[in-house]
Amino acid sequence: MYRLTKRIAIIGAGPGGYVAAIRAAQLEAQVYLIENREIGGTCLNRGCIPTKTYFRNAQILSDLRNSHEFGIKVEGFSLDGKALLERKNKVVNDLVSGIERLIGSYPNIELIQGKASFKDKNTLNVQLNGGGSREVEADNIIIATGSYPQMTETKGIDLPGVITSDDLLELDHVPETLIVVGGGVIGLEFASIYKELGSHVILLASRILKDGDKEIAKRLTPMLKKQGIETYVDIRAKEITKDGERLKVVARYKEKDEEIEVIGDYVLIASGRAPLVEGLNLEGIGVEFSGRGIKVNDSYETTVPGIYAIGDVNSKGIQLAHVASSQGEYVVETIMGHKPDLNLEHWPACVFTMTEVAQVGFTEEQLKEKGIDYRSSKFMFSANGKALSLGETDGIIKILASNEDNRILGVHIIGPHANDLIHEGALAISNNMDVSAIKRTIHAHPTLSEAFFEAALGLDEAAIHIAPKKKRRG
Ligand code: FAD
Repeated sequence: MYRLTKRIAIIGAGPGGYVAAIRAAQLEAQVYLIENREIGGTCLNRGCIPTKTYFRNAQILSDLRNSHEFGIKVEGFSLDGKALLERKNKVVNDLVSGIERLIGSYPNIELIQGKASFKDKNTLNVQLNGGGSREVEADNIIIATGSYPQMTETKGIDLPGVITSDDLLELDHVPETLIVVGGGVIGLEFASIYKELGSHVILLASRILKDGDKEIAKRLTPMLKKQGIETYVDIRAKEITKDGERLKVVARYKEKDEEIEVIGDYVLIASGRAPLVEGLNLEGIGVEFSGRGIKVNDSYETTVPGIYAIGDVNSKGIQLAHVASSQGEYVVETIMGHKPDLNLEHWPACVFTMTEVAQVGFTEEQLKEKGIDYRSSKFMFSANGKALSLGETDGIIKILASNEDNRILGVHIIGPHANDLIHEGALAISNNMDVSAIKRTIHAHPTLSEAFFEAALGLDEAAIHIAPKKKRRG
């Protein structure tokens, strides 16, 4: 039997909102979860899951194309765009209905399908999807309304064929030529995936992974080119015009007085996502926000006590599903009088390009800026047996550690299964572990994790599969 001590209303059932709802229900709150679209939000319906479903298609195609390197001859395969879309929709629907069932298994979560706006600090007005409206009163309200694709000021942005990630994920065919504007995670993932799906991809990026470690971004750029993506960096799209049935993009280099013109069938604008605050009546109740999101303190409380904002919509600027979920857990545990035992200072960030990229903790640039005395060690996947057997030897694992207390401060990986390997680094950093914790741990052979182990050993000049630095004689 539940002792329902608090009423918590949550606006939005993305990975921030629905995880907060489940955690709040476990802690015996009465929960109202309000969603005007599909359960699962951007992540399940228009983000993480559909893109990673296509990523799998891309991997299979890449394996088929490269099968001759493994002594396997494959002839006559082709891609069915409609079947691709159907599989993606099935994966999304299976996951969404699974989450719906999970939510339904908590008797103290009431799912309300409709659009919420604030009447006052404790009351929401919900325009129900089925028609009509109702009011929901709560002791605390959590805003988890997420974000939406942001369009640039570029001329010609309204032309048909200029699309967002939402639109691209609904296409039932693979564009012959796809122009991607934006070198952030979303732009890079689509560029890499669609190249393998068969498009000619042209990438126009003002920077590649601007928040990542510079060395990793530098290594990624030639890999994108090697994959066959026509890549232009330090460039900005200036104007889009019709070119017969196709689209022409004029782009200008940032540092030199030079322009290029590229022609494609679709132009994907992947230039960031804006917080979704429209229609919430935040002004009416005094919740402060800007173009960067809803202002929150370190406990994710807004400028109105008792109202919280989590995930993509808040001003913290970290647009990742797992971060939204962790912020949700943190907030409900706080509301319910618990002391959340979560490290929200560091989080893994992954990029699903064909050569994966992942990072956790500080970049070298951040450590230099903070004046922290650190050392760095790298291990190349080309010296790792498992990577060789996989035929995926491009890339490195880089570990950064403090010279003061030997703690691991940052891990940066570009290479096979980087997005799984990063969690050893996440565990170490979130728990303030030092280099000896990794060195003490036997890593199984033959695994990619041995590359992590070797990079850690290298911090103390003890890596086994790295030749010693040449010592000067005399
Ligand atoms: P959302 O998931 O956006 O959910 C917000 C929900 O609130 C929506 O369902 C919306 O309909 C609802 N809502 C909004 N306003 C109202 C209202 N007034 N009333 C009722 N309901 C409302 N992140 C990763 O970690 N890994 C990835 O691989 C990854 N890939 C991505 C790929 C793409 C193409 C995109 C676009 C994003 C990707 N992301 C990824 C980012 C991730 O999807 C978001 O960070 C995450 O969904 C944010 O969760 P959220 O709960 O804050 O918001």
